[in-house]
Amino acid sequence: MAHLEASRRGGHLWIFFTQPLPAAQARTWLLPWCPVGIEFYPKQDQSTGYGSLIRLPLGVHRLTGKRYPWIGAFSRDGKPVKAATTVKETLTWLEQQEKVDPSHFVSRHRHFVSHLGRAYETSHTREVSQSPRNNIDNPSSPTTAHTLHEWCCQQDPFDLIGRYVELDARGVGLCPFGEHHRRGKDCHPSFKVYRPRSPGRACWHCYTWGKGGNVFNFLCYYYGLDAAMMWQRIQAGGVV
Ligand SMILES: [Zn+2]
Repeated sequence: MAHLEASRRGGHLWIFFTQPLPAAQARTWLLPWCPVGIEFYPKQDQSTGYGSLIRLPLGVHRLTGKRYPWIGAFSRDGKPVKAATTVKETLTWLEQQEKVDPSHFVSRHRHFVSHLGRAYETSHTREVSQSPRNNIDNPSSPTTAHTLHEWCCQQDPFDLIGRYVELDARGVGLCPFGEHHRRGKDCHPSFKVYRPRSPGRACWHCYTWGKGGNVFNFLCYYYGLDAAMMWQRIQAGGVV
């Protein structure tokens, strides 16, 4: 369902939809599966302008004067094989490629969200400083060699949280936990990411809500999952 287009320094992995859908929906669905360090577009949930721009496929690269090909397959020795050579052939090839029907995953996602909603309600009544933090040094049942604390230490808070919240150079952005703000959303940036005092410790704070935590707490709140479910999801590769 994803299609690889070569570029000068690597490639772009495209996912085509059968119909337009809001950027926020595409981000909710796909961003958790994007490895840290890989750029993800659309970069904004919503924008008053165009948002961040990306080079469209089949455009001519100004420096090289070339169009970058789509990769149709890989040879036995792992070399990429072009899907087509001319623009016409490429368009025909693209037309034949599988597209994702958003209604398919949106209905499944709704089910997922309502499931998360229930988890959120149960975990939400507890203080940030309690449930997740208690589990950090002592995760219930890690299935890999890494503990949750190790995982937290490996994360760069600006990188990780920056994938969910647009942060300025000082690490400040609009709080994603709108329910704690007047009118249900943060209108004046009151969310800040900072370097933790020691690796894996508290690195974000919302000044309106008066709460904060580490990268793991952030993800628990963002996805509305309790610590055990969130850790399971991280171990299953659902975040990194
Ligand atoms: Zn907030």
